[in-house]
Amino acid sequence: MADIWSEEKRSWVMSRIKGKDTKPELAVRSLLHAHGYRFTVSGPRNQTLPGRPDIVLPKWATVIFVNGCFWHGHEGCKDFSIPKTRTEFWLTKIRKNQQRDQSNNGKLESLGWNVITIWACELSTKDRLYSLERRLPYLIERKPFEYHLEDETDQLGRVAEDFD
Ligand SMILES: [Zn+2]
Repeated sequence: MADIWSEEKRSWVMSRIKGKDTKPELAVRSLLHAHGYRFTVSGPRNQTLPGRPDIVLPKWATVIFVNGCFWHGHEGCKDFSIPKTRTEFWLTKIRKNQQRDQSNNGKLESLGWNVITIWACELSTKDRLYSLERRLPYLIERKPFEYHLEDETDQLGRVAEDFD
């Protein structure tokens, strides 16, 4: 299913990502690009869909958010630790962000979009990048629409049987 990159291709992508001080979102774009996925980053959907997704892959009905671990409150992540001062202030702020993210993801899913969240920490080491790279095809091409189609076919099949 997932076609894993050759060692050369991975090295090339890594060199692009690690070579500059690249923002997490740019690193994800490099990964997608190197994998041959087509996407938009400033198209109408990027600007109008709930939560304004960082990356939209129309062919796969998939949107990607590249989230900073602190601002979006990545639970269990070492990059998400609430400051010792003004703790209440930060907690309130970040809980609000988490709730907004959840709500936007729910809206997107009800519109039929496959929603992927990639955390900045997933791009922080070569091993993590490798793991993300391996999961990408599964995450993107999972195509929840197909499951719906199968469900419908199943129902039609049952209806046909009832007529027999
Ligand atoms: Zn994290």
